[in-house]
Amino acid sequence: MSRPQTLSDWQALAARVTAQLEGNAFINDEFVPAVSGETFESLNPATGERLAMVASCDSADAEIAIRHARAAFKRGVWSRMAPVERKGVMLRLAALMEAHQDELALLDSLDMGKPVTSALNDMAGAIGSIRHQAESIDKLYGEVAPTGEQALGMVLREPLGVVASIVPWNFPLMMTAWKIAPALAAGNSVILKPSEKSPLSALRLAALAREAGIPKGVFQVLPGFGHTVGRALALSMDVECLAFTGSTAVGKQLMQYAGQSNLKRVFLECGGKSPNIVFADCANLDRVAESAAAAIFYNQGEVCIAGSRLLVENSIRDAFVARVVAAAERMQPGDPLDPASFMGAMVDRIQYERVMGYIRQGVEEGAALRVGGEEVDGPGLFIRPVVFDGVTPEMAIGCEEIFGPVLSVFGFETEDEALELANDSDFGLAAGVWSRDIDRIMRVTRRLESGQVFVNNWAGGDQTMPFGGVKQSGNGRDKSHHSLAEYTQLKSVWIELS
Ligand code: NAD
Repeated sequence: MSRPQTLSDWQALAARVTAQLEGNAFINDEFVPAVSGETFESLNPATGERLAMVASCDSADAEIAIRHARAAFKRGVWSRMAPVERKGVMLRLAALMEAHQDELALLDSLDMGKPVTSALNDMAGAIGSIRHQAESIDKLYGEVAPTGEQALGMVLREPLGVVASIVPWNFPLMMTAWKIAPALAAGNSVILKPSEKSPLSALRLAALAREAGIPKGVFQVLPGFGHTVGRALALSMDVECLAFTGSTAVGKQLMQYAGQSNLKRVFLECGGKSPNIVFADCANLDRVAESAAAAIFYNQGEVCIAGSRLLVENSIRDAFVARVVAAAERMQPGDPLDPASFMGAMVDRIQYERVMGYIRQGVEEGAALRVGGEEVDGPGLFIRPVVFDGVTPEMAIGCEEIFGPVLSVFGFETEDEALELANDSDFGLAAGVWSRDIDRIMRVTRRLESGQVFVNNWAGGDQTMPFGGVKQSGNGRDKSHHSLAEYTQLKSVWIELS
């Protein structure tokens, strides 16, 4: 079947897909209701309509899933399968995801409000991640240590056991794939807890994983809330690793849970307030302004690496901000199923109110509102792009993660001042530098406190590049062969030779 092209094509597919949505948990190869029988509503934030009732798992379901995950790990059906065979199964999963990518993209769009065209980009990232990690795993060698002749020292890389992946709602399936691809490739049993705001694509993925041949108990999906099923996974004595993407506050909580239980490995991908630095010598103001606007307004600003702090050299600031405002006026929200929409709806009422609160606070704190900020009438939770100029680091909109389409512009005079402003943050996820001067680019890049730096672009990268933060943006790395290190442990074997 060819890809839907128009709004009505997507609406027709949505009608078919929503008629048969899966809302049960996926435990030991079966779709089952929560032990408690509890459910929660999955709503479409663009229309306010109910999509499905979803199993609300809690500690009872977590216990069952962990038992199956551990049993599968011990049986070795996956953990001791030859890497080349695991690769084969995962490549089948990638092929199935590709065959169903319109449906998967649609589920994310309906569930959390992003434009279906952005969701299709996410599918490319998700499928690419499964393929990349599958292809890596039979090319990963252990080590022979440089000992003397009297011994053989081997360093083996082994899976951890049961991995719980707890993920957010902003890129539901892509964040899921970034976590489960290396965890599964390495031979772990994985329990996925999708966000309660976007569980539908994860449940569809479970059916595809079963079809691909991932053995019973090796991949399970527990929908539900953080404080119930998420907490139970995090406090379990039988989970070896928490792989988390989400807010810094919850990341801190997970580290405490690990300390209160079995010292499980906790690796975190958390929030950001990323600086995008534009020097007056950058190549093309129009192109840079367009990119700076997309850096914050893409995905309604619900992006961990959103370029939410724009630092502009004062000599070009007025001209540059005018261009960013013009770009913001073109990037308006619309029906997520309309391929022409650049932005969609905010994920839910809570997030909508939070962002509107920050916009009011920005005005009260004295920042100059250049564009946006109006309420949009109707049942959908839409927010027009907002640009504030004259922001300072003390303002809430200058230092806190808003996670919405709100850009804070700062001016600077010198390179040192730009760096001072850029690094004046608890976060360190991403940063951008725009300039034609390679010496300056390298000076600034090395001094930026950030897990990733984009030079003359925003958000560039592919499967070969690790993704993650420093400071309170987290301590882990998704993607690339570096992510395999998060899901494996080293075993040193010393063989005495006579
Ligand atoms: P969140 O922290 O509220 O929730 C993330 C996940 O944690 C959800 O599945 C949630 O149910 C679960 N959770 C919540 N409380 C829990 C608890 N006590 N125990 C166990 N699990 C719990 O974050 P969110 O609102 O879903 O996502 C937005 C955040 O994610 C932003 O801060 C954003 O920057 C961050 N994010 C980071 C990256 C990255 O790669 N660094 C990528 C995407 C999103």
